[in-house]
Amino acid sequence: MDAAIKSIRPGKPADKPESRPAELDPAEFLAAAVRADQPRPARAEAEAAVKTLLAYIGENTEREGLLDTPRRVVEAFDELYQGYHQCPAEVLDRTFGETAGYDDFVLVRDIEFTSQCEHHMMPFYGKAHIAYTPVERVVGLSKLARLTDIFARRLQTQEHLTAQIAAAIDEVLKPRGVAVLIEAEHTCMSVRGVAKHGASTFTSRFTGMFRDNPAEQARFLSMVRGMQR
Ligand SMILES: [Zn+2]
Repeated sequence: MDAAIKSIRPGKPADKPESRPAELDPAEFLAAAVRADQPRPARAEAEAAVKTLLAYIGENTEREGLLDTPRRVVEAFDELYQGYHQCPAEVLDRTFGETAGYDDFVLVRDIEFTSQCEHHMMPFYGKAHIAYTPVERVVGLSKLARLTDIFARRLQTQEHLTAQIAAAIDEVLKPRGVAVLIEAEHTCMSVRGVAKHGASTFTSRFTGMFRDNPAEQARFLSMVRGMQR
């Protein structure tokens, strides 16, 4: 099955007539572009909570194979959710500064990522494609991958992940425009719920010239699509 669906998020009006995408909400960037550190419970409390979940699913938490599991799960969480302790703006702040007359967009395609859905805390994974048209400030290409990882290593919806990447680039680099396309498979849909494997969800966000100029959008999409598979 290779179905492409618009959105698996319920309650979102997918067919709302909209001639052009909404402006980026500055609050969305501000919330996303700083370290999201919150006061948090002690590690021992987190491990105890995992033990509670093990008991809840019907396990004997004292059996040997599970003794270290709470510790391992919390360690895995530290890794999967490290994005809360990283700052997206800092990653983009180190720019080269010189475009040397370059006036087309820069596209980085096929940035692989894994994130966790905020509804089920189950992985969704796929590829991000990011383009921006620099005015003065250019970043190293690896920074766009780093930026994607920082947002991906938080609880997310695919829509927010897409919007936050676009907003961060827009805000920090002040380019002529940003285009972000994300395609992903959601395990909360492929291994639970309707249990459909291989369904992809596509989300996109365009700002500036990409938002205002359908020809630029089309060129971005054909460069993302055309050379792949
Ligand atoms: Zn989910």
